[in-house]
Amino acid sequence: MVGIYFFCPDELNDLFGSQGEKSQKDKGKNQTRRKNPPHGINVSQHGARIEKPNKFDYNLVVIGGGSAGLVSSYIASAVKARVALIEEDKMGGDCLNTGCVPSKSLIASARLLAQAARAKEFGLQKAEISFEFSDIMERVQSKISQIEPHDSVDRYTALGVDCIQGRARVLSPFTVGVGDQVLTTRNIILATGAKPMVPELKGLDQVDFLTSDTIWDIREQPKRLVVLGAGPIGCELAQAFQRLGTQVFLVQRGMGIMKKEDADAVVPVMERFRQEGMTLCLDHTAKEIQVRGDEKTLICDHKGQTVEIPFDRILIALGRTPNTKGMGLEDLGVSLTENGQIEANGFLQTNYPNIYCCGDVHGKYQFTHTAAHESWYAAVNALFGRFKKFQVDYRVIPWATYTDPEVARVGSNEQEAKAGNIEYEKVIYGIDDLDRAIADSENTGFVKVLTVPGRDVILGVTIVGHHASEMIAEFVLAMKHGIGLNKILGTIHIYPTMAEANKYAAGLWKKAHAPEKLLAWVEKFHTWMRNH
Ligand SMILES: Cc1cc2nc3c(=O)[nH]c(=O)nc-3n(C[C@H](O)[C@H](O)[C@H](O)COP(=O)(O)OP(=O)(O)OC[C@H]3O[C@@H](n4cnc5c(N)ncnc54)[C@H](O)[C@@H]3O)c2cc1C
Repeated sequence: MVGIYFFCPDELNDLFGSQGEKSQKDKGKNQTRRKNPPHGINVSQHGARIEKPNKFDYNLVVIGGGSAGLVSSYIASAVKARVALIEEDKMGGDCLNTGCVPSKSLIASARLLAQAARAKEFGLQKAEISFEFSDIMERVQSKISQIEPHDSVDRYTALGVDCIQGRARVLSPFTVGVGDQVLTTRNIILATGAKPMVPELKGLDQVDFLTSDTIWDIREQPKRLVVLGAGPIGCELAQAFQRLGTQVFLVQRGMGIMKKEDADAVVPVMERFRQEGMTLCLDHTAKEIQVRGDEKTLICDHKGQTVEIPFDRILIALGRTPNTKGMGLEDLGVSLTENGQIEANGFLQTNYPNIYCCGDVHGKYQFTHTAAHESWYAAVNALFGRFKKFQVDYRVIPWATYTDPEVARVGSNEQEAKAGNIEYEKVIYGIDDLDRAIADSENTGFVKVLTVPGRDVILGVTIVGHHASEMIAEFVLAMKHGIGLNKILGTIHIYPTMAEANKYAAGLWKKAHAPEKLLAWVEKFHTWMRNH
């Protein structure tokens, strides 16, 4: 789901200025280690000679029409390069068709039901809502259809991109095959995304399991749903289905959910899950699925005990596998990381200097906005790298998990700071104290800010609460532009808003860093003034 709004004209006019804080002189710093660096692009990794065409059809061929591919080709066409975008399935990729858009649409319907269930908290005796599950799933599709034109072949063709439907194969660093066509190109961007990881779980092949790719097709509501995996995708979908009336069992091998977040950040989420009737099966290791007649059961190990969880449908949400197979990368010897992602240096170049990658197939951060962010670097480096290259700036990466309460983060949290031996100070402002949150009966969560000890420099922020994903934007801006808490405190925030919590967190930091000696002197001054 990529709109024109990703790029302001300034960025396009100022290709070399806006995101290029780091340039050629940083070459070598923080770069990914290359396996078997090629001796030149005239020889493949396997030693075969590669013919470099005398002329090229394209400046850039982009493989994959998801967020990363769309943005890459958009940038290329905006700077008047000749660009082809090859997509084998639906334009818009995961984000539009099976990811962000459908999940947030489903969450919106489920939220309304959850609000109704809390009617008494709002002074209402009862709010009854009746619905057909299939209508909710059709609404999800209608939201996809509404957004689809943003990512469509028509739109991108009008922008000057040659959109080609089909499965691409990289034949050489200069040629890409699609159907019976062979395109010659100066540069290639691999933006082929990722797909749900399916584990080797005994008995899984006996059930019609769901993934984030297929769940959008169901029209019959499961009565009992096992969600295997309590990462962001598992948690968001588990809560949505529980709110719609499905009995959800959220099964997680470890003791916590959303393990990248601090333990205190996920406590309010787990509490809400339990209040809403979800069964949290933590420290449960899935062993096998048994099918006896119509009854399906997930067998788990829990602290040495066997636990049986009967279910109607099971959703596998155990992470995502990069799409790198069957497209010629093995033959060419394009290097992959241990996680199976495409390996690239800081300029997003693979071990072939004219083959770049971006988005989920490469990224450490698997989000639409990071795919878009990387695309700028991949496209600009591919097209203008002979003059100037830009190293991807990963310093300020925000994200959110859209559970209720939401969990949003930018920069380091405590567990990361501790793991990296980074010293920090922290302030926590409890949202239970915030006027707007109280008025809205949404007084759960906190704003936690980590700073460099003794300095007004933000290291990271975690926000848990209603609209945390919106509230974090102020800190994203602050961190990106080196603004500290003093400035946030000195900024007028509208009353009463959730965003005021950011200012109160800054206020707590200020209080903790009050100039005690000066205040002691000032107190003496006031005493003196009262006596004269
Ligand atoms: C349920 C869910 C919810 C999510 N929610 C959010 C969210 O709220 N916010 C957020 O930021 N991110 C979210 N994400 C993540 C986000 O969807 C991805 O990070 C993003 O879509 C990655 O974009 P991409 O272009 O790298 O890959 P994709 O969107 O996967 O696009 C890759 C494209 O390449 C095509 N392709 C692959 N191989 C070939 C080939 N050989 N030839 C031609 N085409 C090929 C595929 O068909 C696909 O269309 C969510 C993901 C899921 C699954």
